[in-house]
Amino acid sequence: MPRAPLRLSCVVPAHNEEANLEDFVRALAQAAGRLTPEFEIIIVNDGSRDATHAVALRLAQDLPVRYLALSRNFGKEAALTAGLAHARGSAVLLIDADFQHPLELLPEMHALWLAGYDMVYGVIVDRGFESGTKRVGTGLFYRLINTGKQVKVPPNAGDFRWMDRRVADALNALPERNRFMKGLYAWVGFKAAALPFVPHDRAGGQTSFSMRRLGSLALLGLTSFTTLPLRVWSVVGSLVALLALVYGAWITLDTILHGTDLQGWPTLAAGIMLFSGVQLMSIGILGEYIGRIYEEVKRRPTYLVARDEDNSPWRDS
Ligand code: UDP
Ligand code: MG
Repeated sequence: MPRAPLRLSCVVPAHNEEANLEDFVRALAQAAGRLTPEFEIIIVNDGSRDATHAVALRLAQDLPVRYLALSRNFGKEAALTAGLAHARGSAVLLIDADFQHPLELLPEMHALWLAGYDMVYGVIVDRGFESGTKRVGTGLFYRLINTGKQVKVPPNAGDFRWMDRRVADALNALPERNRFMKGLYAWVGFKAAALPFVPHDRAGGQTSFSMRRLGSLALLGLTSFTTLPLRVWSVVGSLVALLALVYGAWITLDTILHGTDLQGWPTLAAGIMLFSGVQLMSIGILGEYIGRIYEEVKRRPTYLVARDEDNSPWRDS
């Protein structure tokens, strides 16, 4: 099926990016302009506390920029969701504001889209620049989340993506509030191509993702895309019960055959401590899922737009 002419919406989430935003958006406008004269750049200011707001407003005066200011910091997943919901192009590009996602790859993404791929996603080939703990954690995370059969989340694929209108529509139609985007991209499916890339260093400013924040993102991903943590406990429970049964039978027999001298209190204490720990852990995991259910049923919006400055060529008039 031939593609409609390219009208490109570039979604740029920005949280405290005053150091990068101006240069980045100008560079992006040039790169996009080389592909098509028809493009818009959607800057989503995710509750920045620095001058990002002023920079974005300035950019919206002379570039085809749609500027959305969220009412507070809702997190990158929500910022991307907001950008996607407002994108009007025939293709949507998601790209970070810190120059880490190479603009040089845009022509290749465009070519793959023209060749029939509905989603082209960047895959980080070299995580060598990251700390050992982060790499081990990431590896473990992808192993866990991909224990399910249905949806495979490609390891090291991030939010650097080019997607067709159909994919954007599919993502916009997903009703959940807990939006783990890396999982949702995989969930919607469509014909996808991986594009390996080596991320640049952050141009200015600092990453917003501390280890703690990455941890809670991982927890969101796991609870949204696998029920394995819930099932593990049924298996553990069954095994422990079986073990207890065998042990009980053995004690009974031993007592009948050899009498008893009332030993084994340390075993008892250790056993109680171990299994109350295991029980608390399993309750905690249940709690994680229940917490997500609670957030879903409240049906609060994923984000709120406080200001919408539209200087894109496709302004609704
Ligand atoms: N970001 C955002 N909201 C947040 C945190 C980050 O919109 O709460 C944006 C940020 O401005 C950047 C992108 O998401 O454009 C990636 O963030 P960052 O560079 O801090 O993450 P890292 O590249 O270290 O994973
Ligand atoms: Mg970054």
